[in-house]
Amino acid sequence: ATAQIGVTGLAVMGRNLARNLARNGFTVALHNRSPERTRSLVAEHGGEGTFVPSESMADFVASLERPRAVTVMVKAGAPTDAVIDELVPLLEEGDIVVDCGNAHFADTRRREEALRGHGLHFVGTGVSGGEEGALHGPSIMPGGSAESYRKLGPIFERIAAQVEGVPCCRHIGPDGAGHFVKMVHNGIEYADMQLIAEAYDLLRAGLSASPAEIAEIFREWNGGELESFLIEITADVLRHTDAATGRPFVDVVLDQAEQKGTGRWTVQSALDLGIPITGIAEATFARSLSGHADQRAAARRAFPDAGEKWQVDDRDTFVEDVRRALLASKIVAYAQGFDHIRAGSREYDWDIDLGGTATIWRGGCIIRARFLDRIREAYDTERDLPTLLVAPWFADRVGAGVPAWRRVVADAARAGVPTPAFSSSLAYFDALRAERLPAALIQGLRDNFGAHTYHRVDREGSFHTLWAGDRSEVEA
Ligand code: NDP
Repeated sequence: ATAQIGVTGLAVMGRNLARNLARNGFTVALHNRSPERTRSLVAEHGGEGTFVPSESMADFVASLERPRAVTVMVKAGAPTDAVIDELVPLLEEGDIVVDCGNAHFADTRRREEALRGHGLHFVGTGVSGGEEGALHGPSIMPGGSAESYRKLGPIFERIAAQVEGVPCCRHIGPDGAGHFVKMVHNGIEYADMQLIAEAYDLLRAGLSASPAEIAEIFREWNGGELESFLIEITADVLRHTDAATGRPFVDVVLDQAEQKGTGRWTVQSALDLGIPITGIAEATFARSLSGHADQRAAARRAFPDAGEKWQVDDRDTFVEDVRRALLASKIVAYAQGFDHIRAGSREYDWDIDLGGTATIWRGGCIIRARFLDRIREAYDTERDLPTLLVAPWFADRVGAGVPAWRRVVADAARAGVPTPAFSSSLAYFDALRAERLPAALIQGLRDNFGAHTYHRVDREGSFHTLWAGDRSEVEA
């Protein structure tokens, strides 16, 4: 047994992860259900490091040093269970199974419990950054036991992206914590992309600008507080011309956004935990709406001219307004995402360090951004921060952006340009800061039709009004 770590599942992600490990000096055991993938990896990249290929799972397991660390990089769902079932009888107490696929955290919790029963560690690990990240340095979010991290930490921290000498990998917490954080990361990615898309749409409608002109605006924004991978590639995509037609690429792409399901998982989990992640939810629903082509066509026919003409008086002021509104809405989306992680951490006893989580998203992953340093600072300064919105750096940006945010949302509403994420983020902000919410009326209605009772502002206890009787109040 000579290999320090093994990878089974050598499609694009597993292959690149294995190469990254080997390039960093680790001896990597290789296995794939169909041996051709193993053979081609060794044939094409064998010179990049030391690989120990096996064609059977038994030989693969036997080639690993103890405690064994087996990384599973297969299709999420039933295939992951199939591979685990094949592995378990071959492993020995203290060995570690690392699932780097996009598993749902509830599956990870179930698998962790089952493998713990066999004396094995199961480490559900979020990996972000796509195939490029897997090869050159992803952001890695391992869950599982602290003991397993003692073996895995030095390996994963070495192959992860590095930002200012700090690896984009840390132990997130027990059992499903890593996959949970990866799920919320993807949810935030949905919100980020929707906000960018709305900003583009606003600029296009308000300025009657071409995609190439808007690309230039995004390029400038990327030099400031909004600096991030997604803003950078937005400029790249908007600048691109379709070779076949000579038209802007963005104009020849069908406007129906697809999804693989992690946004939906995030929203479902937030509903269970009672955390209003409105930005992520709007972004997820916006993708669904875009795909309802028949409804869109019907509504377009019924209401062709429902918007007013949009007249932007001053170009630079408008562009700056959109930038500020984008930043404020983005802060709301991240504030909500971190609230969600905190709630999951409390519900499942994970003790997740929010500042630390922001640290490992600074590089390698799709939502990498300059801004994440500020999030780290905010939670490192005040662990129990009620909401990211009130941390000084964020409160300054949001406070200064409010007039612009209101102008943009109001102008868009008048012109009939849909801004679900911009406008719901503003509504969230206004609701959070409201002195009184109409929730009081909802409580009154619930008590009226269903005797659901209410609390009073001036006395302890639960109360009910005898609506159908003499309308006196009784203590419930
Ligand atoms: P795929 O999701 O396409 O899965 C293909 C791999 O799974 C192949 O190695 C295949 O083996 C194996 N496999 C499928 N079914 C079984 C089975 N029943 N038993 C054993 N092996 C099986 O590969 P990707 O590389 O795209 O993704 C791997 C994982 O990483 C997935 O969970 C995916 O969700 C996640 N992922 C993460 C990304 C990220 O950015 N973090 C990006 C893309 C994926 P065979 O060759 O024999 O068919």
